[in-house]
Amino acid sequence: MKVIRSIAELRNALKEERAARPGLAVGFVPTMGYLHEGHASLLKAARQSCDTVVLSIFVNPLQFGPGEDYETYPRDEQRDLAVAEAEGADYAFLPSVAEMYPSPTKTKVTVGQVTERLCGASRPGHFDGVATVVTKLLNIVQPDRAFFGMKDAQQVAVIQQMTLDLNLPVEIVPCPTLREADGLARSSRNVYLSEEERKQAVVLYEALSLARSLAEADRQMTAEELKRHIEAKISSAPLARIDYAEVLAYPSLEPVGKLAEAGRVIVALAVKFGRTRLIDNMILE
Ligand code: AMP
Repeated sequence: MKVIRSIAELRNALKEERAARPGLAVGFVPTMGYLHEGHASLLKAARQSCDTVVLSIFVNPLQFGPGEDYETYPRDEQRDLAVAEAEGADYAFLPSVAEMYPSPTKTKVTVGQVTERLCGASRPGHFDGVATVVTKLLNIVQPDRAFFGMKDAQQVAVIQQMTLDLNLPVEIVPCPTLREADGLARSSRNVYLSEEERKQAVVLYEALSLARSLAEADRQMTAEELKRHIEAKISSAPLARIDYAEVLAYPSLEPVGKLAEAGRVIVALAVKFGRTRLIDNMILE
């Protein structure tokens, strides 16, 4: 695995490889590092369907709001490189902030509608930061396929919309959410949780599972009714503070009425435990 920190160097390496191997399929897995099984599953998926796999690790300041955890976001480069190598990445791209943003960016990518609710509403500017950095990274790597986790389902909807709207020559591949044994979705931010918070954090998965069984049992139920059941379940965990709990159409993220008439819906949660904000979701067909 080659570790590369400069954009020019990565471009050159990929250009040479493409010239030497016509038809080469390049897979790309963008991350913010502190790699866990979820990231590893994206690398595995990329490894399976592509000839060359590029992993990026970049904690993107543009997607963090004031007072969020940009400075304290967990980082462990040596461990990440070992994980990436073990998962068969060919390139680990670790640009500095100065490399990615040599001067403050005057251009940003804004995706409409799908960014209005959920994390778009509770983290203003977040998806502009995500869409902008993903556009930059896609332009740098020029992959055939890019792999994203459904753990961040709104992010997948945003990237897919952006790819469609801007005719980006890449296939976006959504991958399933990897979970701990008790159901908690794997996340770099789980390390922030105290022992008691970690125990109670399983309530997100329990609420999603409850939502699934309630929706299966009564298809005449409305999204609003289902939302109330979910909120009650989450509130049973004393340390949980709900940021949002929503039932919306997926991937449009528009409001829905009766589940029976809604098609594909997402149950999406953001819940705070102390200063840690966790998100999770489940898609109901
Ligand atoms: P992050 O480093 O948190 O920005 O995540 C990088 C990529 O890994 C994103 O596409 C995430 O959706 C994905 N990801 C994060 N957690 C998980 C998980 N538990 N299962 C699957 N993919 C994940």
